Amino acid sequence: RNTQRLDKIVSNFGYGTRKEIKAMVKNGLIKVDGQVARDSGIHVDPNSSVIEINGEVLNYKEFIYLMLNKPQGVISATFDQRHKTVVELMPEEVLHYDLFPVGRLDIDTEGLLIMTNDGELAHEVLSPKKHVKKKYYALIDGNVTESDKDEFSKGITLDDGYKTMPALLHIIRSGSISEIELSIVEGKFHQVKRMFEALGKEVKFLKRIEMGGILLDESLKPGECRELTDEELTVLR
Ligand code: URA
Repeated sequence: RNTQRLDKIVSNFGYGTRKEIKAMVKNGLIKVDGQVARDSGIHVDPNSSVIEINGEVLNYKEFIYLMLNKPQGVISATFDQRHKTVVELMPEEVLHYDLFPVGRLDIDTEGLLIMTNDGELAHEVLSPKKHVKKKYYALIDGNVTESDKDEFSKGITLDDGYKTMPALLHIIRSGSISEIELSIVEGKFHQVKRMFEALGKEVKFLKRIEMGGILLDESLKPGECRELTDEELTVLR
């Protein structure tokens, strides 16, 4: 059971400050399981109790899942002293959920980042044993060729000696600046950048377009987010 103070629950849903909720309770405006609440400090389990405010049923959910199109210049963390964090991009009405990012993208990387307060799901998705697929779109300084494709499929030895698992490279366009998509099933620090570095090429632009079967919704501008659909959640789980 997850009980919380009634005034905290109601206040978190944007119905006012705790003081205001207290006044509403005094005026008999809040019901719990059909009974008028007499004390704003009572403990209630919002998962199993029905809370009504002025006749309106509170649509409580314990967990929330969003997809964010992370913009550049923002840190994938919940707190940072110098930079804006992805949590600061969340809309006001979800701020009380204590959201955190599922994994990380570099400050200069854009694209799909899942935000949730569901630690268990995050743990599953990030577990190295699960080999959850992540797909990136990138612009590379240098001519990416078919032989690079072979290197990626064999695994690439990074600067620290670690050999990556096979990765799937798709070349969209080769040239002095190449355009590619790369699918990996690990999440080492700066992995995509370091894989190209090992081949003497530099990632100029990086954007995650897929994670765990969920595709970045291209209608989201950088900085925008939306809740995952039920279908997307099923795929992720
Ligand atoms: N690989 C990187 O190098 N950076 C990211 O942000 C994600 C994957």
